[in-house]
Amino acid sequence: MTASLILVINSGSSSLKFSVFDSTQQTEPVSGLAERLDTPDATLKVSTQVGTRQTAIPDADHQQALRAVTDMLAAEGFGPDRLLAAGHRVVHGGETFSSSVQVTADILAQIEALNHLAPLHNPANMEGIRALSTLFPDLPQVAVFDTAFHQSVPPAAYTYAVPHALYRDHGVRRYGFHGSSHRYVSSEAVRLLQLDPADHRVITAHLGNGCSACAVKNGQSLDTTMGLTPLEGLVMGTRSGDVDPSLHQFISERTNLDLDGVTAMLNRESGLLGISELSNDMRTLIEAAEEGHAQAELAIEVFCYRLAKAIAGLLTATGGLDALVFTGGIGENATPIRERTVYHLGWLGLNLDVTANLTHGRDQMGIISTTHEPAVMVIPTREEWMIAQDTLTLVSAH
Ligand code: ADP
Repeated sequence: MTASLILVINSGSSSLKFSVFDSTQQTEPVSGLAERLDTPDATLKVSTQVGTRQTAIPDADHQQALRAVTDMLAAEGFGPDRLLAAGHRVVHGGETFSSSVQVTADILAQIEALNHLAPLHNPANMEGIRALSTLFPDLPQVAVFDTAFHQSVPPAAYTYAVPHALYRDHGVRRYGFHGSSHRYVSSEAVRLLQLDPADHRVITAHLGNGCSACAVKNGQSLDTTMGLTPLEGLVMGTRSGDVDPSLHQFISERTNLDLDGVTAMLNRESGLLGISELSNDMRTLIEAAEEGHAQAELAIEVFCYRLAKAIAGLLTATGGLDALVFTGGIGENATPIRERTVYHLGWLGLNLDVTANLTHGRDQMGIISTTHEPAVMVIPTREEWMIAQDTLTLVSAH
């Protein structure tokens, strides 16, 4: 049987998400998630076209979880002989990687040298690559970086106004994340609107638990809202986004939190959750706001206002707008969030089509504005698909 399957892996510190794509049929026959790894409650959940199954894999580490995944895939008829390659999501590629690469020992060392830029994420991503290499030493593996798409951002947009030695000596600059998502939805917008690939200006808003927006001109990212870390920029589920840089010191002087404590607060107790004191989940907040919960309403308004303000700022990079694209769990599903954000941008000539806004979402992508120049669109993101595509392209080239 010819090998045509691409295994896409997103390995986190205590979880491992995977999907399998069939490169000949452009389908995704199986996907799943192993979570609570290294604990007695570790489980593996697998979804196929016929349904979802859950298995206990107590105390499994990344390698044992991957073994369970590949055994289960074999049982479903997707044995290792059918695997063509694996693609891994890697969070930080620093300035070293401006596109996806096939993994070699040298590449692994280069990724490892960037661990200080994403100490929570990159080592966990590497663990997935290492575990798979141990199981299948001959399987080609590709690394796809969240930051790579933003390597086209110019110095004026990525340089922080701090002593330049911090950039030279420690790589302190803005990098941006969610690159696969911004790349995918912006190219889909260009395709759907039949824009000129060499002459277009698109703003993409990826709104999930993490949120970022990106300015794309002629296929290249020119600016984005996340920075050195994913904490910068928009208001997110539990992350504050932009705050006064003096806040760390202020909070630590007023409370007994140390630097780590303040960082944890800004990452895990802030954003929608922090303002609402209710939830980080946009569905819950929308329902609560409709029932009169004042802080849920405030959280939503801050979220939309800050997003609109960031989009307006990103237009400085593009110098105009052909399309504004919403994606991610909130961008694809939360109709009131799209409505409020676009309302703040009415002065740009954007006007939502109320009916189209209600009918478009995860299952129906397309234009939701009365105007087509510029257009407001909903395009479901497909980050795993992008990883599979890059993997296939690189492996075919070798
Ligand atoms: P992640 O960044 O973890 O991949 P998602 O892209 O799935 O997250 O986005 C999660 C967010 O999407 C949550 O805030 C969730 O409430 C929101 N969301 C999902 N479905 C809806 C919906 N129907 N209406 C409003 N918000 C939704």
